[in-house]
Amino acid sequence: MDNVKAYSATSATSPVAPTKIKRRDPKEHDVQIDILFCGVCHSDIHQVRNEWNQVLPTTYPIVPGHEIVGRVTAVGSGVKKHKTGDIVAVGCMVDSDRTCPRCKEGLEQFCPNMVLTYNGPDKHLGGVTYGGYSASIVVDEHFVLRVPANLNLAGVAPLLCAGITTYSPMRRWGVTKGKKVGVVGLGGLGHMGVKFAHALGAHVVVFTGSPDKKEDALRLGANEVVVTRNKEEMAKHANSFDFILDTVSADHDINAYINLLGKDGNLTLVGAPSKPLEVSAFSLIMGRRSLSGSNIGGIAETQEMLDFCGKHGITADVEVIPIQKINEAYERMIKSDVKYRFSIDMSSLVGEK
Ligand code: NAP
Ligand code: ZN
Repeated sequence: MDNVKAYSATSATSPVAPTKIKRRDPKEHDVQIDILFCGVCHSDIHQVRNEWNQVLPTTYPIVPGHEIVGRVTAVGSGVKKHKTGDIVAVGCMVDSDRTCPRCKEGLEQFCPNMVLTYNGPDKHLGGVTYGGYSASIVVDEHFVLRVPANLNLAGVAPLLCAGITTYSPMRRWGVTKGKKVGVVGLGGLGHMGVKFAHALGAHVVVFTGSPDKKEDALRLGANEVVVTRNKEEMAKHANSFDFILDTVSADHDINAYINLLGKDGNLTLVGAPSKPLEVSAFSLIMGRRSLSGSNIGGIAETQEMLDFCGKHGITADVEVIPIQKINEAYERMIKSDVKYRFSIDMSSLVGEK
């Protein structure tokens, strides 16, 4: 298909603007999807502006968007999981080799041949893959998720990245009832982290630099809120956490949080600031604490997360915007001025030429 409406950036300094892109005709195992909503992740900004050029340089033009919900409009002859008319979702990955040990254990996100939904090598059309800031997408059925019928679709879209990225490390590090869990940064990822930690039964403490988010944090499921610039409030929690999830997108002092971990406590980084973070050896040595990272989640776990959300009635808190507001949305996200995820209503593309 030629001439699918989309929004792209053509350089690290240009705005995201209207364009037309190609999508392949569905092959045997492909699902063709009309996109209804696409969440706006801070990773979209990092990549549009080539802030990750050291590890993941951006190829322009870039069509961002990896929090996709839509309706199936066609399927290839071999597709078993989905049919025309189904409401489905696509996250950060659209392919992997399916044969390596990582794929076999359901961790496609660590496959050496994993293909990102945007800015990854497109083996069908050449060039790079184009993401969800577009009218439609064609994806192999293995990477297409089922959406529980009871959830609001604008709020489902962000589950595909912000949701799985916070759910996966909480499952990995055993967040359950009786555990004390911290969430640093109340943005798109952070607010999902709070919802999941609360639903899993933990005692949840939010660390925020934005005092005006305090009430929201409590409403979202936090038991306590610490405004990070308040040193006394921080000190009260020293040596007490089982697990802390750090979702901050910019440079910050992680030792301040590592010092709040108890014995054998773990801090997992999911936020991906472009500059390396400094770690004090003593923060880790004292208490045998650990520091780790986590990258989205595998396809099976993403489906498990969506089903968990269906069961618990969990979606993201979204501000729905037309695609024409995307550049303004980026500026607001950088100022931490979003409650708590922008979700683009893709019907706004209809008016574009
Ligand atoms: P976001 O909505 O912009 O939220 C980030 C939050 O971090 C802000 O709301 C703010 O929270 C806090 N923050 C921002 N600047 C800060 C600063 N200078 N110092 C301290 N805190 C600051 O972003 P997001 O979409 O949740 O993404 C967060 C990060 O995770 C990004 O770097 C993104 O690329 C990364 N990410 C990683 C994965 C993965 O698989 N590991 C997946 C998706 C995204 P407060 O206002 O509460 O302080
Ligand atoms: Zn993302």
